[in-house]
Amino acid sequence: MDKATFDSYVLQTYKRVPLTLVKGEGMRVWDDAGNEYLDFFPGWGAGNLGHCHPAVVAAVQAQAEKIMHIPNVYYNQLQGELARLLIERSFDGQVFFCNSGAEANEGAIKLARKRNPAKRSIITLRDSFHGRTLATLTATGQSEYQQGFEPLPAGFAYCEANNPDMLKAMMDDSVAAVMLEPVLGEGGVLPLTAEFLTTARALCDRHGALLILDEVQTGIGRTGKLFAWQHYGVQPDVLTLAKSLGGGMAIGAFIVARLHCDVLGPGSHGSTFGGNPMACAAGIAVLKAIDAEGLLEQAATTGARLQAELQQLAQRHAVIAGVRGLGMMWGVVLKQEGAAVVTRCREKGVLINCTHKNVLRLMPALNAAPAEIGRAMAVLDEVLAELAQG
Ligand code: PLP
Repeated sequence: MDKATFDSYVLQTYKRVPLTLVKGEGMRVWDDAGNEYLDFFPGWGAGNLGHCHPAVVAAVQAQAEKIMHIPNVYYNQLQGELARLLIERSFDGQVFFCNSGAEANEGAIKLARKRNPAKRSIITLRDSFHGRTLATLTATGQSEYQQGFEPLPAGFAYCEANNPDMLKAMMDDSVAAVMLEPVLGEGGVLPLTAEFLTTARALCDRHGALLILDEVQTGIGRTGKLFAWQHYGVQPDVLTLAKSLGGGMAIGAFIVARLHCDVLGPGSHGSTFGGNPMACAAGIAVLKAIDAEGLLEQAATTGARLQAELQQLAQRHAVIAGVRGLGMMWGVVLKQEGAAVVTRCREKGVLINCTHKNVLRLMPALNAAPAEIGRAMAVLDEVLAELAQG
């Protein structure tokens, strides 16, 4: 189907780039003309294992021949197994499964509200991103996502990232939850400081609020630990996950600390496809592959190399205002908008992303080879040099 026909049938909610992807393998993807690209933003942050990881493909193929969907009123062995693997790797509690990051955050917000009728407000961050449902786009501290969808649900307030004094001033006993991304992804790859996260934890404890960490983008090894909170030692009450948990399959989840597990009882929340066997088989394969292939260690080592190479680029190119990130999640802050850089990189065979208008975002697979990092850096170097020449 040509692009014009596609556009005539599919609702135009995305600004699409003129590229039709038909195949993926590891760090590489191919378009319908057979051109190969190195994918430095696989799956919009959902590609921590790269494309079509063999263990995930095998798990999904095998499961498809057994049973593809089990309603949640019946027991589903794979859901129990994935929950167990997640709890063993995070903190004592229970897991609710859904299909996306927005749903995971929506569920976490519902839990925070239901827990105590006297506590209604949810504090999030300016420039955060939590999803596109009405509650999660209201939680998202960027008005451009909210415009036109009013009236928005009440009770959300926004704090500046890494401003502990502002958070202190906003907190009181009416706060149900503080919801944070440990590294703001769509907000420009901005890591939270240890001071800010520690303060948030202490304030939640003092005021009886829940600390919800949205690790939809930072989770499943992206930052060099399975969950970004493990860098800071700040354990949340609720942890939300999606994207890379499914290794390419749609899945979302939130983990609730044991103390709060009775808040959402039977009938209070649900999802037809949440935790279906196909997605759970994929999730189990993802977590096992991370262990078996030492991907957290690889992410930490390769991430340090990526950081060093980006910092070298920053020394050579005056257009770079700074480099920031954690593990395998890096932002290159430009002094101008970055869309043209993304386009030129794509024309030269490397797919990257630009978020927050001027932050180039690089999130290669955790097992990206040094040669693949080197090639992407060489292309970025060339493109930034072209940019300087006008
Ligand atoms: N939370 C964060 C931190 C995200 O980055 C995203 C998506 O980019 C979401 C939530 C929403 O996830 P989904 O698109 O799966 O609903």
